[in-house]
Amino acid sequence: MLVALAGGVGAAKLLSGLAAVHDPSELTAVVNTGDDLVLHGLHICPDIDSVTYALAGLDNKTTGWGVVGETWTVAENLRAIGGVTWFQLGDRDLATHLFRTQRLSEGATLSEVTAELARAREVATRLLPMSDDPVRTWVTLADPPPGAAGEVAFQDYFVRLAHDVAVASIRFEGAAAAAPAPGVLDAIASAERVVCCPSNPVVSIGPILAVPGVLDALVARRDAVVAVSPIIAGAALKGPADRLLRELGHESSALGVARLYAPWAATLVIDEADAALAPAIEDLEMRCIVAPTVMSDPATAAALGEVVLGA
Ligand code: GDP
Repeated sequence: MLVALAGGVGAAKLLSGLAAVHDPSELTAVVNTGDDLVLHGLHICPDIDSVTYALAGLDNKTTGWGVVGETWTVAENLRAIGGVTWFQLGDRDLATHLFRTQRLSEGATLSEVTAELARAREVATRLLPMSDDPVRTWVTLADPPPGAAGEVAFQDYFVRLAHDVAVASIRFEGAAAAAPAPGVLDAIASAERVVCCPSNPVVSIGPILAVPGVLDALVARRDAVVAVSPIIAGAALKGPADRLLRELGHESSALGVARLYAPWAATLVIDEADAALAPAIEDLEMRCIVAPTVMSDPATAAALGEVVLGA
């Protein structure tokens, strides 16, 4: 069994690559839920949905988020009547959020609903939320724009403010009291290999590590943990990972990622563009593997999957 720690789109690409070169039913993804939000009364799990859609082959590769072939009838009508439209929800995507919200209201756990949605989409990989308990990422802005609060919910920062604002600090509300979802700790303890996907270290991997028990479980399996750097040549391929690392006092480089992950990951895969950083990473007692890590299509994602499996 392989276990992967996953955020959204970067993780979804590597998981698709791994599922192409490894039995997907022998793959478990532990997915960040710190980005979750309730909007229009609907429970939305952006990272779980990105991973599910990608593994089902339903991801929209043009937008980089949402569902392929999406239509926008509800959103257009919502706009016409003055509803909240800054977080775009397509018609196809809405079915997922309706299903999840209904099942949660019936008393199902998030783990159960996540498994039901994966099964309905014929995803063979086991998808686990990091926790069934609510954990919410909050972002304190260094310089709040006029009209914005000093602290905003993650999607306010990420989508409404387009992460184009400086961040002073991050906190994961509810994390200290959250329990890992059923199966998370067992999966990490028994996996042949634990893969940390190329996801935002601060706001995608950070919340998973903040769930009590997860970090200790990873430290105990350090030799089996292989991480892929989401930072290439000092920059994120998309999103605010580079900026957030700098703003929170880390280095925005594969070496900065290595310093954060060294306590619990024995191996780091870095991009060929960063080959010169390998000796400094190995000084942290990490094994460093240099490989092409930009997943621009299924073939490059599968090739990176092979690198991770062979690490
Ligand atoms: P989200 O999809 O916005 O929730 O973000 P993720 O947590 O998945 O992380 C996005 C991070 O993944 C960014 O730092 C990107 O640089 C990184 N990323 C995205 N695609 C790739 C890729 O093909 N290769 C590598 N190495 N990193 C990637």
